[in-house]
Order: sequence, then C-alpha cells, then structure tokens
Amino acid sequence: MTVATINPANGQVEYTLELMGAPAVEAILAASAGAFPGWAARSVVERGDFLRKVAAGLRARREDIQQVMTAEMGKLRKEALAEIDKCADACDYYAAHAADYLRDQPIATEASSSYVRFEPIGCVLAVMPWNFPLWQVFRFLAPALMSGNVAVLKHASNVPRCADLIAEVLADAGVPAGVFAVLHIDNDQAAEVLRDRRIAAVTLTGSERAGRSIAANAGDQLKKCVMELGGSDAFVVLEDVDLDKAVAAAVASRFGNAGQTCIAAKRFIVVQAIADAFVQRFVEAASKLRLGDPADAATTLAPMARQDLRDELHKQVLSSIEKGARPLLGCRADDSYAGYLASILDAVAPGMPAYDEELFGPVASILRVADEAEAIRIANDTPFGLGGSVWTGDPERGNRVARQLQCGAAFVNAVVKSDVRLPFGGSKRSGFGRELAEHGIREFMNIKTVYVA
Ligand code: NAP
Repeated sequence: MTVATINPANGQVEYTLELMGAPAVEAILAASAGAFPGWAARSVVERGDFLRKVAAGLRARREDIQQVMTAEMGKLRKEALAEIDKCADACDYYAAHAADYLRDQPIATEASSSYVRFEPIGCVLAVMPWNFPLWQVFRFLAPALMSGNVAVLKHASNVPRCADLIAEVLADAGVPAGVFAVLHIDNDQAAEVLRDRRIAAVTLTGSERAGRSIAANAGDQLKKCVMELGGSDAFVVLEDVDLDKAVAAAVASRFGNAGQTCIAAKRFIVVQAIADAFVQRFVEAASKLRLGDPADAATTLAPMARQDLRDELHKQVLSSIEKGARPLLGCRADDSYAGYLASILDAVAPGMPAYDEELFGPVASILRVADEAEAIRIANDTPFGLGGSVWTGDPERGNRVARQLQCGAAFVNAVVKSDVRLPFGGSKRSGFGRELAEHGIREFMNIKTVYVA
C-alpha cells in the first residue's frame, strides 16, 4: 500500500512511501532478535559511547532534520531546532547516568548476599505520534538502548522521513544493525508485530483510542506496556498572581507547537477576583500571534499538522459554543491548508467538549471559579491526569495546591515541561508508566532478585 504525506503549510504532497510487506517486517524482527544478545552483553560504558555519537550526529544534522520536521508536520523552525537539541542532550544524559541507574542494589537480608539486578528484556516496539516527531522517540529510545534493550519504531504515518532520519543518525553513529529499526507499517500490521514472540514489550505515545487498542493487545499477549496518552492540563491562576508572568506563560504553554502538546495548558482555571484582568490580557497577547508558514521566521503560530485534525478541533469548538461557551478570540480556520487561529473560549462548563475532552490544537478554555478550593475541584474534575500548573505570588501556597492536583506532574509558577532529569507520565486516562529520569530506564527491565543463602 502507498501512503502520502502532505505538507500542512501548503497542502502539497510531500512524500510517498510504500508500506513494508510481511517479508521486510520479518527481516527486521529477525535482525532485532539476532542483535539483542550482543547489544545486551556490551558494557554500559560502550553503549554510552554509541549514544554520545548519536548525540553528535543529531547536532551535526540539525538543519536537515529541522527541514523535514517542518515539511512533514509543520513545526516552526525554532521549535524544531530546540527539539533536536533536546534529543541530543537526552542521549548525553543517559550516557552519563545509566551506569548509576543500573548498578546492582544490595539489600540487607539474612542471606550472605542479596541484591537487585536490572536486566534488559529484549525488543521493545515503540508506537509514536507526530507532534514531537524526534523527542517522543528519543525519550523512549535513549534509555531503552542504554539499558541493553533493542527497539523497533512504528512512527505516525505523517512523519516517515523523520523516522528514517533517526535510523540514519543511529546507523551513522555505528549503532550495530538490528539494534534499532523503523517499521513502515499500518496499525493492523503493528498489532501483528506486537503479537510476535520476538517483541517483549510495547510503548505508545498517542491518543486514548490508540491506547485502548494497543493496551488490550498487550494485555492479551501478557506483555508489558507503557501508555503516554492525552491530557487536558489545568493552569490554575490564583488572585495573588504576577499577571505579566502568568499571561506570558499561558500563551507559550497553550499555543506553542500549534497547541498540539500533550502537556500544554488547556483549561485556564481563574479565580473570580483576577479573572477579568487575566482574560483581557491573555486575549490581547494571544491576538498578536501570527499564523503562517512554519518555515518563515516571522511566524509565531504554526499550522496544525493535518487538515483532518484541524477540522476535528473546529467541530469541538463549535459544539462547545452551541452549548454556551463564549468565543473571545479566533475560533475559526484561516484560509490556509491546515491553519487554525489562536482561539480562546470563555464560560466553559461541564458537558462541553472544551471541558470534557482534550482540545489538541490552539484553543484555550477559560473556567472562572470562586476561590482556591473550587479551582482545585475543577482542576481535578477531568478524566485526564497528565500535568497541571499553579500560578501564585506565594510559592508555599502554590506547593500546597500542586500537591492536591491529580496528575503526573504539577508545576508551580512554571510551564509544565518534560525534562530528562524528571520522571514523565500520566495518571487516570492519561496513561500509566513513566519515561525519563531513573524511573523511565527501569520500565523495560527485569528487576531481578538474586539471593545467595
Ligand atoms: P494517535 O492518532 O493515537 O497516533 C499515535 C500513534 O499511534 C501513531 O503512530 C498512530 O499511527 C498509532 N495509532 C493510531 N491509532 C491506532 C490504533 N487504533 N492502533 C494502533 N496504533 C494506532 O495520536 P496522535 O494524533 O498522533 O497524537 C496526539 C495524541 O497523543 C494526543 O492525545 C496527545 O495528547 C497524545 N500525546 C501524549 C503524550 C504523552 O506523553 N502523554 C505525548 C504526545 C502526545 P498512524 O499515524 O499510522 O495512525
């Protein structure tokens, strides 16, 4: 089957690709199984040397990789370059820290020796999304490779050249054949691959719909899975806030990456005393964003990655307005192929898609609340639990509120971000398992007890 990718800036076919057939998939799985024992047997120091070369390769090729990211999914040049650098830094980070994370851990018992050892488990299938086409892959791949596992990647169908570039960078760094490979396959084929006995586990970053299907399949096969799914993060604004700081952060968090970020602030929960002032300044700042060609340095709001996703978002916005939300800004497409104007909805309430669902695009929802207690209640009144932030002039108060948010990451006076030093992942329907830091490298390892009486 042939698939085409479309440049979201202009609607032109960017690239066509023939999906792999069964023989090509079989060859990749066989190579991966063949490569695992040798890769696992290398020392952490040796694997770290490869990862450092991968980091150098990413830095050396950042201009070509950026162009492909921009052409395939419409990422602003500046954002793409920052993403590539972040991947390189993550490779260096795991190269430096994996030995500590994977060291045997002695445990005092009545035995002469008892300890925990961390062992790799084999080939991990990664099913990844297009929104951070490099970072989503590397935040799984760097720790997976450092732990001695091998990996195959089924990337989102609109970013096939990003996937191939990742494979090229690894190959150029000398990573042995079979340790990492890209599968250009569809979702049915991915389900088949997950059933293959040579696949030990699966990690998905993507939508709830994909999560249900892949987690069910993994459960059926009794294979470990990590699910990094959607979110509808709260951005809680308390009355003692520094408005300048909060408004700048609100714009950056909601509209960066054209609003297509799992941990973007999506629901702005503002206490009544400050609500008019915050909303007025938020609207003013967001109205200055310039939607346009992502390759143009003057553009500050990228188009969405695909036209169908833009149309889906617009339906959620229209349905929210029909149910009583008040459009304050945007709330429509422009006349480009996949662009959606920076949008703000006020008076968002339960029963509206803007309240109950994830809006994966440049649309902010405002919810006005009486006080801190109501802010916490509304922040937690969601099926999602990825991240959340609290904005206040009193860091102690912020800390107290942050501890009550039901989510995987709560930030005070800072935009929620992924950072290789900190564990990342969700609660509730945002998924389970963790990536990054020490927690991430352990997800796909056998935590083995050794007991010598
Ligand atoms: P998506 O449609 O679920 O796609 C993600 C990946 O899953 C793609 O490779 C896709 O392949 C595959 N896929 C889709 N449906 C599938 C199915 N039924 N069975 C098996 N695989 C399937 O998600 P997206 O639109 O690319 O990404 C946006 C979503 O990802 C948002 O909800 C966002 O919040 C979430 N996300 C979460 C995190 C996190 O860390 N928690 C990070 C980023 C994004 P095809 O492209 O071939 O369909």
